[in-house]
Amino acid sequence: MSYDVIVLGLGAMGSAAAQHLAQRSKRVLGIEQFTSPHDKGSSHGASRMIRQAYSESPAYIPLVLRAYELWGKLEQDTGQRLLNITGGLILGSSDGALVTRGIAAAEQHGINYRVYKPHEIRERFPAIRPLESDIAVHEERAGYLFPEECIRAQLKVAAQHGAELHFEEKIQSWTADASGVRVTTNRAAYEAERLVITAGPWANESLREFFPLKVTRQVMAWIQPAGGIEPFLADHFPVFLSESSDGRPLGYGFPAIDGPLGGVKAAVHGSNIECTPETIDREIHESDVLNVFNNLKSRFPALGAGRSLRAQTCLYTMTPDEHFVIGRHPEFEPVSIACGFSGHGFKFAQVVGEILADLATFGTTSHPIELFSPLRFRSNQH
Ligand SMILES: Cc1cc2nc3c(=O)[nH]c(=O)nc-3n(C[C@H](O)[C@H](O)[C@H](O)COP(=O)(O)OP(=O)(O)OC[C@H]3O[C@@H](n4cnc5c(N)ncnc54)[C@H](O)[C@@H]3O)c2cc1C
Repeated sequence: MSYDVIVLGLGAMGSAAAQHLAQRSKRVLGIEQFTSPHDKGSSHGASRMIRQAYSESPAYIPLVLRAYELWGKLEQDTGQRLLNITGGLILGSSDGALVTRGIAAAEQHGINYRVYKPHEIRERFPAIRPLESDIAVHEERAGYLFPEECIRAQLKVAAQHGAELHFEEKIQSWTADASGVRVTTNRAAYEAERLVITAGPWANESLREFFPLKVTRQVMAWIQPAGGIEPFLADHFPVFLSESSDGRPLGYGFPAIDGPLGGVKAAVHGSNIECTPETIDREIHESDVLNVFNNLKSRFPALGAGRSLRAQTCLYTMTPDEHFVIGRHPEFEPVSIACGFSGHGFKFAQVVGEILADLATFGTTSHPIELFSPLRFRSNQH
């Protein structure tokens, strides 16, 4: 049998693409090397932040607003809770890059936000001890997604609309020409009119010569705060980004979403330990957890003095400019790609699925994706 579209990889982006394509009545074959969700790629760990005052670039804001709509629709379609709005804080010095860019992005796109001074931060969020030079940008509509549930929901809707989903099957090679694509796996060969590549940290296996993608090891830690979990519970504690003014990498974290014994998940954005999904050291070392504690202890003393309950590794797939790669393949017309999500892609999965369905159906999309052009790295090649 021949398909309209084959989707390579059914993680966050691939399962969303399969869902949107199937909802458009395309004959979809999704192929995943493991089961999905799983904990070997980039989409595990129980929570992913979603926020609108996007300091990375205002260009993301129309996309994230559409993602909110689509996550809401997916919740309705499946009757599952995928998103929890808790509010979100960007904490940092008033002239910090993240804080100022977050405010500028919110102003430009009319995103509701409020700025707290140090005494207001202490009053509203007693678990936070701001520095005297700090401000906090509070965004009401920020919160977190449940990534594993999101992926399950995307796969469920894809299957309900007729997508054929193969698990424990690895795509070993593919070819493409004007007549379509041929894909070979460890089990069989398949043909389709189009191929969508959403391989996450495995993207270098088939795209290495086109994009400079760097895969890095990240660590998430679940911390039992000193003095108890109460100040961190999700009905009054927000998701947060914490920017230092002394060059330390960005710390971030979530409310305690698993009740009194589940801890507070926190991490440091920006470890540069390069690896591949095969070579990553998945063991947790004392230094991994200390890194998280040390990063957070000045503004979150109860976390800094807390106890690590558990920790887990995860993978970022970084581009040089930390913006995504989404578009048509530079050389093979029937192939679209979405990769290089640089540690901030999950919240967009629903809209990326819609964009990939547009690209595979019409060859183009009305969503603003110029920033993500696969062609922007061309001059870097060879
Ligand atoms: C610690 C950490 C924290 C993060 N926090 C946030 C956050 O708060 N907010 C946010 O928006 N983003 C966050 N991100 C980023 C976000 O999670 C990722 O950008 C996103 O999950 C990437 O999805 P993906 O589909 O590209 O990759 P994945 O979900 O890893 O999917 C790729 C899939 O392709 C499959 N595959 C690959 N090659 C093949 C093949 N040849 N054959 C078959 N299957 C194949 C893989 O098995 C995998 O399932 C975080 C990431 C990490 C690691």
